[in-house]
Amino acid sequence: MTEELFREDSYLRDCDATVVAVDDNSLTLDRTVFYPLGGGQPGDTGTLSWDNESAAIVDTRYGEDGSIVHHLEEGVALPNIGDTVHAELNWDRRYIHMRMHTAMHLLGSVLQYGVTGGNISAEKSRLDFDMEDTVDKEAVGTALKALVDANHTVSCRWISAEELDAQPELVRTMSVQPPRGKGSIRLLEIEGVDLQPCGGTHLKSTAEVGAVRIGKVEKKGKRNRRVNIHLDD
Ligand SMILES: [Zn+2]
Repeated sequence: MTEELFREDSYLRDCDATVVAVDDNSLTLDRTVFYPLGGGQPGDTGTLSWDNESAAIVDTRYGEDGSIVHHLEEGVALPNIGDTVHAELNWDRRYIHMRMHTAMHLLGSVLQYGVTGGNISAEKSRLDFDMEDTVDKEAVGTALKALVDANHTVSCRWISAEELDAQPELVRTMSVQPPRGKGSIRLLEIEGVDLQPCGGTHLKSTAEVGAVRIGKVEKKGKRNRRVNIHLDD
C-alpha cells in the first residue's frame, strides 16, 4: 500500500519515493503527496523526476488493489522498480482544490440540507442539495463570506469505530454519518462549523478560502438544487 503523506499534511508539495510498480505509462510509489481522484476532488498532477529524466504526471487514481497510481504522459521513458524518484505537485492547481474543497464544507454548513452530489474543479465547484426551497443567493453568499472571514481552524483526526461509539454526541453533531466497518475513520472538523468524515485535502483555516462567490443555482429536479461556487482571485 502507498503511504499517503497528504492525509497527515495536505501542504506537502513534494517528496522522494521509491518506485514499487510500473505498468504501461503508470507507476506506483511507496509513498506520495499526490491525492488520487475521489470524493469529488480531482486527482493531482505534477512532475516526476529521477536521474536526469523527468515526466509529467497527468492524473492520479486509486489502483484496483487500493494503492495510488500515478499516470504519466504518453510515450516517455519510465524509471525502473526500485529507483528513487522525486514527485512534485502542480501546487497552484492543488491549492485551488484545497480552497474549493474547504469552501464546499462551508457551503454545506450554510445550507442545512442533505447533499446528494458534488464536484470540485479549479474553475468551479458544486454541491447538489436535496431541497425544494429557493436558494437565496445573496444570503448564502453573505453567510459563506462570514465563515471565511471568521477564520475558523480546520483540522483532521483519526478515530476508531469504538471511540466513535463511546462518544455518541460526536455522531449527533456530524453532518454526514461515518462509514462503518472500515477500522479507523478520518474526521474533518471546522471548529464550531462542521464535523464529518472526509478523506480530502483541506486548508488549515477558513480565511485561506479567500474571495468566494456563489455562481449559478440550477434546478435539477423537484428536490434538487445545484449550487455552484467560484473563487475570485
Ligand atoms: Zn473534506
